[in-house]
Amino acid sequence: MKTVLITGSTSGIGLGIAKEFAKTKQYNIIFNGLETNGPEIANNIGKEYGIAVMYSNANMLNPAELRTMVSDGIAKFGKIDVLVNNAGIQHVSPIDEFPDEKWAAIIGINLSSAFYLSKAVWPGMKERKFGRIINIASAHGLVASEFKSAYVASKHGIVGFTKTLALEGAPFNITCNAICPGYVKTPLVEKQIADQAKAHNLSESEVVSKVMLLKQAVKEFVPVETLGQLAVFLASEAASTMTGTALPVDGGWNAQ
Ligand code: NAD
Repeated sequence: MKTVLITGSTSGIGLGIAKEFAKTKQYNIIFNGLETNGPEIANNIGKEYGIAVMYSNANMLNPAELRTMVSDGIAKFGKIDVLVNNAGIQHVSPIDEFPDEKWAAIIGINLSSAFYLSKAVWPGMKERKFGRIINIASAHGLVASEFKSAYVASKHGIVGFTKTLALEGAPFNITCNAICPGYVKTPLVEKQIADQAKAHNLSESEVVSKVMLLKQAVKEFVPVETLGQLAVFLASEAASTMTGTALPVDGGWNAQ
């Protein structure tokens, strides 16, 4: 059995990714997230798919908690083979009104946590000559949208971080790739629909059609299953020469 640690896996995309890893029955899963029913979510998936699970409520803003989550995971499962840096938050606001504390939280959660966690799993991956790091970036890792300065900076940052780890990991069979989703209907986006409506002075349904899906050629939200299956592929032996990529799964947004 391999072990995968997925941050922010008790909601949205992270939970969808966890389910796809669970379906393969080839992974122990370390769940993480701030949802209060996190232990229950993890245990239910463990029972449903007959796999071993662990849950940690480590806060992405606390490097010591992140290191403890990794060492607890290694103590329980012996190793961590795959790290999925997925936890993330958003805040939508014009730059002149953008709260300083939101900037710091977005950079901390969306970008710096990936640094601390990658650093913590790296020595074991290097020693065993196998590792897969998958960063959930965003279409906003490749292009910008107005009112999302911190988010776009964090996601462009993680794409650069991905390329660097790919180069450093190559001699040790450690790959690092970024998945760049378009819009996925999760709690993060549901909150954004409301925030964007305020920023653009539109109704919520107008935000979905005129702002969000406007940039996607395929006028549909991206299913979490698509992202989960791509993550499982990137974690596989078959993907060993695929590294340093930033893969858009964005309904053609980046084709324009
Ligand atoms: P979500 O709000 O459904 O889930 C976010 C998860 O991160 C939750 O489990 C939450 O508890 C966890 N989290 C947030 N802050 C944390 C902290 N300080 N410490 C520990 N955990 C924390 O959001 P989602 O839409 O599933 O987003 C997941 C990732 O996908 C994010 O990085 C997001 O930027 C990215 N993404 C989302 C979309 C989209 O349209 N939903 C598009 C592109 C990229």
